[in-house]
Amino acid sequence: MTTPPRVLTIAGSDSGGGAGIQADLKTMLALGTHGMSVIAAVTAQNSLGVQGYWELPPEAVRAQLDSVLSDIGAQAIKTGMLASSVLVETVAEALTGVDAPLVVDPVGVSKHGDPLLAPDAVGAVRSALLPLATVVTPNLWEVEQLTGVKVEDEDGLRRAAEAVKELGPRWVLIKGGHLPGAPVDLLFDGVEEHRFPGRRLDNAHTHGTGCTLASAIASYLAHGDDVVTAVGRAKEYVTGAIEHGFPLGGGIGPVDHGW
Ligand code: PLP
Repeated sequence: MTTPPRVLTIAGSDSGGGAGIQADLKTMLALGTHGMSVIAAVTAQNSLGVQGYWELPPEAVRAQLDSVLSDIGAQAIKTGMLASSVLVETVAEALTGVDAPLVVDPVGVSKHGDPLLAPDAVGAVRSALLPLATVVTPNLWEVEQLTGVKVEDEDGLRRAAEAVKELGPRWVLIKGGHLPGAPVDLLFDGVEEHRFPGRRLDNAHTHGTGCTLASAIASYLAHGDDVVTAVGRAKEYVTGAIEHGFPLGGGIGPVDHGW
């Protein structure tokens, strides 16, 4: 019997099962890893939006992290919704010195525009979490929150990547999907630049896209891929998941992990 690579997500629960911890664990299963979860916050959520959320006490987050890492360990770690500055700082402190690649999805708001991170926590993400990241995966809104850089077209992606790179992550993946025209993401390590063009998919059921992408990158890193390969494969996986996204409830349905 062989043990699959172990991947840990530290994020929020989505009661509707489309994003957050639930999307992370489904992605990890689909990509042949053992998924583990440290829950930072619990959302009351469905296809229509986030009706409320509750953070866990920092001691509870720290205890979950210590339990997992002291016994099972992880070949890759992913962070998602961390809700508050105290939780961002708790997670950053616990991960300092941990020898595993870290994928940071700097979650700010949901697709419906519901906040998932307190406004005063952006500073902690910037100063405590990003310097630990192997890859950080901001969308253009998150780039603006983190750096003040506003991207209006594909030419601005490089400037955005440089500004985020200044905050200390090893690699930056700027998700350019919200720009007009064919979508392109840019991966940058301060020297090398890789562009990942995509196709505009005609499917509105995209809930959980960001969580799925970051978890897929972490899963491929846990399998031993280098960052450029892991991002390329994760993009293919999330593209299929969006293509197969399905209606659920009365609003935006989730991407499909089992395609
Ligand atoms: N809920 C939780 C707990 C999340 O972590 C996230 C995204 O990271 C979302 C909701 C938002 O997902 P989406 O923007 O794909 O709808």
